[in-house]
Amino acid sequence: MPTTGDFTNLAEKVIARCRKLASLSEDAGGTRRTFLSAPMHDCHREVSFWMKALGATVSLDAVGNLRGFYPGASPGAPRVLVGSHLDTVPNAGAFDGTLGVVLAVGLVESLDGQKLPFGIEIFGFSEEEGVRFGVPFIGSRALVGRVDEELLGRKDELGISVRKAIQDFALNPNEISKAALCDDVLGYLEFHIEQGPVLESLGRPLGVVEAIVGQNRLEFTFSGQANHAGTTPMNLRRDALAAAAEWIVAVENLARRTPGIVATVGFVEAKPGAMNVIAGEARATLDIRHASDRARTEALDELIRQAESIATRRALAVKWRTLLAQHAVAMDPFLTEQIGHAVQKAGCEPHRMASGAGHDAMILAEKIPAAMIFLRTPGGISHDPAESVHLDDVAKALECGHHLLTQLATSREFLGRTCRA
Ligand SMILES: [Zn+2]
Repeated sequence: MPTTGDFTNLAEKVIARCRKLASLSEDAGGTRRTFLSAPMHDCHREVSFWMKALGATVSLDAVGNLRGFYPGASPGAPRVLVGSHLDTVPNAGAFDGTLGVVLAVGLVESLDGQKLPFGIEIFGFSEEEGVRFGVPFIGSRALVGRVDEELLGRKDELGISVRKAIQDFALNPNEISKAALCDDVLGYLEFHIEQGPVLESLGRPLGVVEAIVGQNRLEFTFSGQANHAGTTPMNLRRDALAAAAEWIVAVENLARRTPGIVATVGFVEAKPGAMNVIAGEARATLDIRHASDRARTEALDELIRQAESIATRRALAVKWRTLLAQHAVAMDPFLTEQIGHAVQKAGCEPHRMASGAGHDAMILAEKIPAAMIFLRTPGGISHDPAESVHLDDVAKALECGHHLLTQLATSREFLGRTCRA
């Protein structure tokens, strides 16, 4: 077992490596490394070099996921996947996704050559953020067989299709099916920064993710009557924007009094949109999320009722359309439990929480047991160059991960699992 000092040294290395990868960018002034972009080649070269030094066999699958396989104690041993994504948003920080990949490399290094009853396959997913093609999770989708012709035909801003981008990266789109999960996979573990303020507000370094929230995105349109702002008395107006405003406050009120709900109206538009004209039409979007599908659906139904009642009282019409409906995804209860123990062994009090954002673990959970560990995010800041981590938290995450691998290596329940892939 490595000492606390060993984990701190390893954490320093992990952070330095994340910073180094952040310099491999499409932009001179900041970090942007989108799906199959030129700097992704450099990124793969760096990470491959670190993985090979640990005795891992490195390969790139047909959607550009970088894989490093560190074998188990015996030939034919099953495998555990550990990783996250290597693509970034524009003007990104150094740790979103990247930390989970580099930390997986650090975990294998912490084994110091020791072989476990399972192999460890380190994953650097090629695409999670959805920046280049407007579709997220292309990397992990390939593992569960969800990269179809429609997706391959999608084009980026330059008119390059996913298929062409894959070819341009010297990969073969006809081999995507080979990226699918094999039946020797026991599960997937992902370390990721929380990207929010919860762990920091509680003073806890690590969080155990129990579920990834489900979400609905809708667009509401209130329709009234556009009219003269000077000649129309207040009692004779049918002001669509005032109705939308009343409903937006109702959204906030309901979310505030319903535990676990987050609801956001992030976009409004009034028509005709002139200072001296009463708005005849107002559009407002709704993004609503909760770890329980039932709680989310009940809250959404209530917000639709309120929109209707506000519209009726003001003699307006309201209609809505659904843009996205995604159910909540539970993380594997056994792995979640084991992570809780491992966090405690690392000297931390685990905080069980839902993830408000989507992650690769959500996609893989369709086919294999998946679980996530969150690291405290200073200031809750992410998707920004100011994104950071605490050295001690990274050391705790490595220690937790090491305990977790050791626990799983001696768990008959875990080793006896068969995969649904
Ligand atoms: Zn991420």
